[in-house]
Amino acid sequence: MKIFLMLSSRIHCGIQKILSIFFPSHCISCEKIISKEALFCLDCWQKLQFISEPKCQICSYPFEVEIKFLQPLCSRCLVKKPSFDSVITIFRYNEILRKAIGDLKYRDQTFLAKKFAGILAKKIKSEIEDCDILCVAPLHINRLRKRKFNQVAIIARLLCANPLSLRCSAIEFIPDLLWRVVDTIPQVQLRKKQREKNLKKVFLVNKKYRELVKGKKILLLDDVMTTGATLENCAKVLKKCGAKKVIVAVIAKTIFS
Ligand SMILES: [Zn+2]
Ligand SMILES: [Zn+2]
Repeated sequence: MKIFLMLSSRIHCGIQKILSIFFPSHCISCEKIISKEALFCLDCWQKLQFISEPKCQICSYPFEVEIKFLQPLCSRCLVKKPSFDSVITIFRYNEILRKAIGDLKYRDQTFLAKKFAGILAKKIKSEIEDCDILCVAPLHINRLRKRKFNQVAIIARLLCANPLSLRCSAIEFIPDLLWRVVDTIPQVQLRKKQREKNLKKVFLVNKKYRELVKGKKILLLDDVMTTGATLENCAKVLKKCGAKKVIVAVIAKTIFS
């Protein structure tokens, strides 16, 4: 039996090697050929910026220097506390990520969802073990028809199946927890103030889950956080329905200087 297992694992490794010659992995930004486990080539990797401490304890806005307060917050969160309780993010949004996320979103490169789910899985694991529900920022049905899929929902599904993150936890993914009931102008085409106005009364908690949300800790997933208006409005309706906590998780966050 042992010999059989060893042989089968060697055959598997051999097949993987042959496949990687014929179907090599590519950098998800510039498409240079890279090793199978990597996501970016070295050049692109060096251009990525990670968001780490010191940062705002709510929205993860990075600080130049450490702020020695009990709860260090950025000026925006101090003026108006967001409806979400915290933001987990990995990267500062830049050209490299714009290309990679754009390929997934608009050019049907759905294999990228697996790569992003893998990156998120490592980051999220320790922070969301006690979350009850996973949901995503929703698309309006018109945009869903045009795009054929919600890229964030694909990432969420893969995240739940990832052994590194949520597979062992009790979290339940509810893809239709939130509804986008108004088809608004895409946020990317608007300025900050217009974005906030554009999203008023746009999101709803699906009627059939309104009772379920009460007292729950919810993980709200999106790909990029720009001004945060979409996620703020999603978190607001969840809190209105009685959610105890809303933790936002995104791949990248735009940092306005
Ligand atoms: Zn590259
Ligand atoms: Zn903040």
